[in-house]
Amino acid sequence: MPTTHATAHAKAGMIARLNSPDYDRWAGQIRATGGCRQPIHLRGKIDHYDRATGRLLHRYTTKHEPDGVLRIPCKTRRASRCPTCAETYRADTYHLIRAGLVGGKGVPETVATHPTLFITLTAPSFGAVHTHHERNGKPQPCHPRRNARTCPHGMVMSCTARHSKNDPRLGEPLCPDCYDYTGTVLFNALAPLLWKRFADSARRHLAKQGGLPLKDLRHHLTLSFAKVAEYQRRGVVHFHAVIRLDGPGGPTAPPPPWATQEALTEAINHAAKAVTAKVPAYADHPERTLRWGDQLDIRPITMNGDLTDQTVAGYIAKYATKAAECVGTLDHRINPLDNLEAYNLRAHARRLITTCLQLSKEPALADLRLADWAHMLGFRGHFSTRSRHYSTTLGDIRADREHHARTEDITTGRLPLFDDDTVLVIAEWHYAGKGHPPGDQLLAAALTGTRLGGAHDL
Ligand SMILES: [Zn+2]
Ligand SMILES: [Zn+2]
Ligand SMILES: [Zn+2]
Repeated sequence: MPTTHATAHAKAGMIARLNSPDYDRWAGQIRATGGCRQPIHLRGKIDHYDRATGRLLHRYTTKHEPDGVLRIPCKTRRASRCPTCAETYRADTYHLIRAGLVGGKGVPETVATHPTLFITLTAPSFGAVHTHHERNGKPQPCHPRRNARTCPHGMVMSCTARHSKNDPRLGEPLCPDCYDYTGTVLFNALAPLLWKRFADSARRHLAKQGGLPLKDLRHHLTLSFAKVAEYQRRGVVHFHAVIRLDGPGGPTAPPPPWATQEALTEAINHAAKAVTAKVPAYADHPERTLRWGDQLDIRPITMNGDLTDQTVAGYIAKYATKAAECVGTLDHRINPLDNLEAYNLRAHARRLITTCLQLSKEPALADLRLADWAHMLGFRGHFSTRSRHYSTTLGDIRADREHHARTEDITTGRLPLFDDDTVLVIAEWHYAGKGHPPGDQLLAAALTGTRLGGAHDL
């Protein structure tokens, strides 16, 4: 649609909405979504019955709502899809991570005395890429090599440029034809398994230090963690994690005296070096073993140093709302039959995606489901995960917030408040669509003070 036509269409929609008799109620719904860019539309009803008599006490139905639907926030964690909901997710994650460091939200404050470390597990090198490093705030030469060799493709393996922080070349290989794209996507695909093996190995090492058989460890000690995946510019994931030692059952009990910060450091060091994941042989490629890169960062979290509980919680929460699109790929699944040329992709990202699609055809690699996860460059794990006892859950934090929202709804007379013991609530909802037509989108942004636009709008 030509832009002028589209604008006229949006304007007409906006005027129609403003003039509709239920405009106020529509605006109320929009405010309640907090400015969600792509709200879910629900059709349905909630009935409240008296448990004793079966009498219908109250019925709420979306029939009387604007367009016959209730709009609720999409609750995505991806800032590229909906900045408002991603911000809510970020804030919730922040509180959850912080509660695991200093207590709160049902976690005792004594948790702050448990040995806790912030670690970064990286991927190995898959070839030289353009990088940004700073010394005293000044960018340093990228990859300077005197007498640098020339690769078989005629590229000199040296780069003396001082790349700025947002140089689009960052993360791009010095020679794309030498770069190990296969290794990169296979590492992404196996990173969740490597993490699992890492945590298991750390537990085994701790059991050994405590002189315990592994199966008895949980009666003495819990290894609790919260982790987040971050894509490096070269398109490979690495993990940041808070790792904490608790007593049996989680943060309410202290760990045994032998389970010190030093013991935890040793277990992490050991586990990061020890674990591997195997890629089976396929076509004419032999079996391949992948492991973590040499760069392992282990740092204590202190109340008043470089790395405080707030810094760590902020860091993890920030990465929890980012995904692979930060490295220039797509934030939706790719149909293997799609023409990748039609997407606006960085050459490096396109090559990683193409590699996923090619490898997905190898029967030996079928379990990695590389076609389904090509848009994530092979990584199919969750972005942000926590062990069971880390702290409270996102669900609890959400329920807390939504309870507030509901109480407000009730006080404005939308829904009567009933005692759950005497009232039976039966809800029936159907999905009825998503998002806003262009006119509504403009109005919604104006109403809630959110910004319009974005890479993957409408
Ligand atoms: Zn949303
Ligand atoms: Zn460079
Ligand atoms: Zn080359």
